[in-house]
Amino acid sequence: AKAEERGTIRFFEAAMDQHIREKRLLQRDLVVAVENKQFQLYFQPQATTEGAVVAFEVLLRWQHPERGIISPTVFIPLAEESGLIGAIDEWVVREACREAATWVNPLSIAINLSPVNFQRGDVPGMLAAVLAETGLCPKRVEIEITEGVLIDDFAGAIAILHAVKELGVRVAMDDFGTGYSSLSYLQAFPFDKIKIDQTFVAKLEDNPQSAAIVHAIIGLGRSLKLPVIAEGVETVAQLSFLAAEGCAEIQGFLIGRPQPIAHYQSVVSTLDGT
Ligand code: C2E
Ligand code: CA
Ligand code: CA
Ligand code: CA
Repeated sequence: AKAEERGTIRFFEAAMDQHIREKRLLQRDLVVAVENKQFQLYFQPQATTEGAVVAFEVLLRWQHPERGIISPTVFIPLAEESGLIGAIDEWVVREACREAATWVNPLSIAINLSPVNFQRGDVPGMLAAVLAETGLCPKRVEIEITEGVLIDDFAGAIAILHAVKELGVRVAMDDFGTGYSSLSYLQAFPFDKIKIDQTFVAKLEDNPQSAAIVHAIIGLGRSLKLPVIAEGVETVAQLSFLAAEGCAEIQGFLIGRPQPIAHYQSVVSTLDGT
């Protein structure tokens, strides 16, 4: 048994070494990616339950020269660890605002900001500078943050959110229901919108607990007078449930996948989106 155990451990260590090497390689490539702007913005529509597009969420993709498109679930954590996330999120905000400023249809954009930038960067200053530079109306910008933003420095985070809202930018709580303290954060922080996490939406049809949670979050939004958006909506059955519950907006493959903006040109270049 001892020898067998040692074998397992050696195998495990080898796998760990491989994993760490892989991570270092990607982290090194990421530095080059930031310098050479190997990123592309994808846009995913957010719509009313009747299907009218009201906004686009901006989702980042890394176009790696050898590996092809890399998901943000892979490179955002690497960027957060290595301190590159400040430059990346600022680039996203600037490019997204620049893009939205060209639209005939004045739809909003929802931008994800890493919790790390709330702890280290000057988020309100960065937003103010980009808004001034691009001339985009602040009312058309919403930032999506997860509760990770709020954990370390409670008072500091509240001050930052107020400064962001002072600019006229809205703030949505992303991945609602997955964190530890979502409810108390809702009380303490000045959110404009609640985004139901897609894990609850995915199980709506065959898991009564998920349906009950989604029902409760929409009711909570109604009581707090906060609009609720559901993400990850893939089926008509999910849409019907959410519409019947009074969910304000939906986002997901059913309405449209994240795509380069060219794919949605007809939506952004005419006033009614038809
Ligand atoms: P998120 O903000 O929770 O984004 C939702 C994710 O769900 C996106 O994955 C989106 O492509 C995916 N999705 C949308 N509709 C559906 C659907 O109907 N079904 C399913 N199964 N999935 C759907 P993506 O684009 O891979 O992004 C993953 C995460 O990476 C995002 O989660 C966000 O936390 C982060 N991220 C993306 N772009 C940025 C960025 O510019 N800056 C920062 N800091 N984080 C970003
Ligand atoms: Ca998001
Ligand atoms: Ca989310
Ligand atoms: Ca998420």
